Amino acid sequence: ESFARIKATEASIQAFLTLNEEGARQHAAELDKQLQAGAERGLLFGLPAGIKDNIVTEGLRTTCASQFLDNYNPIYDGTVVSKLKSAQSVTIGKLNMDEFAMGGSNENSSYYPTRNPWNTEYVPGGSSGASAASVAAGQVYFSLGSDTGGSIRQPAAYCGIVGLKPTYGLVSRFGLVAFASSLDQIGPLTKNVEDSAFVLQAIAGYDAKDSTSANVSIPDYTSALTGDVKGLRIAVPKEYLGEGVDPKVKEAVLNALKVYESLGATWEEVSLPHTEYAIAAYYLLASSEASSNLARFDGVRYGVRADNPANLIDLYRKSRSEGFGPEVKRRIMLGTYALSSGYYDAYYLKAQKVRTLIKQDFDQVFEKYDVIIGPTAPTAAFKLGEQVGDPLTMYLNDICTIPVSLAGVPAISIPCGQAEGLPIGLQIIGKAFDESTVLRTAHAFE
Ligand code: GLN
Repeated sequence: ESFARIKATEASIQAFLTLNEEGARQHAAELDKQLQAGAERGLLFGLPAGIKDNIVTEGLRTTCASQFLDNYNPIYDGTVVSKLKSAQSVTIGKLNMDEFAMGGSNENSSYYPTRNPWNTEYVPGGSSGASAASVAAGQVYFSLGSDTGGSIRQPAAYCGIVGLKPTYGLVSRFGLVAFASSLDQIGPLTKNVEDSAFVLQAIAGYDAKDSTSANVSIPDYTSALTGDVKGLRIAVPKEYLGEGVDPKVKEAVLNALKVYESLGATWEEVSLPHTEYAIAAYYLLASSEASSNLARFDGVRYGVRADNPANLIDLYRKSRSEGFGPEVKRRIMLGTYALSSGYYDAYYLKAQKVRTLIKQDFDQVFEKYDVIIGPTAPTAAFKLGEQVGDPLTMYLNDICTIPVSLAGVPAISIPCGQAEGLPIGLQIIGKAFDESTVLRTAHAFE
């Protein structure tokens, strides 16, 4: 069914980089056999899943949407992929993205841009744009994405679905090709909140193979979906509804707050005073980490190797010049500069201090409130090509998602309205490891 739907929609959406048709059919047949032999159904039994192409899958090409990894076939599964196998979902294929997860529109894919199913002239968001588009188009039941500065939440908002970025450390990053290791988190993209809770249940948990994995006990997320938000204390940061926010987006968020009021919750305006520095700090820190993480792509160990190098240094230079696209090169240069001796204190260290201040902003608000609510992005999806030549404008779309990533706390995006026929996302942010309250709040709105 999934493949029939893909055949019908893929020409206009272009979500997949690699399809796993043969493998998926075999896996589904095996699951059927096990069931007939009396085995219990797994949590996600038989559900067709799409995996963002920066999560490694054994024997299934994994490119990060980069020419550099055009021929890379991993020899192991990422922890989340193993967990999905245990939960018995079926991997349909690998989903397009911005190259190495750097971007917010899918236009940085070195293959082709994925399109927004609501209107194919618009971007699906990014970097997990195809993870969102494939769920919205009904090609898969759910997908996995990764979120470093908004890459699950923003595409979920643009495509009118649900996207959850868990607390940093809740889901193992083992087998996620690293972009900015101190920020990267894997999470589910689904049609509704209940499915989000199920998929999170399947992928969360301590993993010794990820040194930043948190050793916390995992609650039953679906039992949190009570529909009850009476007495819930909501904070609404004035910085998230200020200048630059589309009036329609603001209106949709205010309407959502009215719904929460009618359900017995209360809300107040608060301030996260360091928000204005978040984007600068993020792009500096994320690029610094990326410049270090991407040093492993040398043309020797993985991926495509340049032809006819004069010597080893030339091999590195040629492979990296040919393999990486412009946005990736831009970030490697920025990050290398910020980390170089003489500039380290002025840039990298300063940005780390800003990050601490941002985290403290959140800590203070969470002393008095249960959740923070605002928009996921300042606007609905924009047109394909509209922002390509202007990376700085593209960076500013992340204003509401990046501070959350820097603070490491969980957040979900759920649909809350439309502007000119395109969906608007409501962002619900919670305390660290309090996914249950985030999911409960989101579920009550649906
Ligand atoms: N748009 C942001 C960036 O380009 C976020 C990316 C992400 O979360 N992977 O860095």
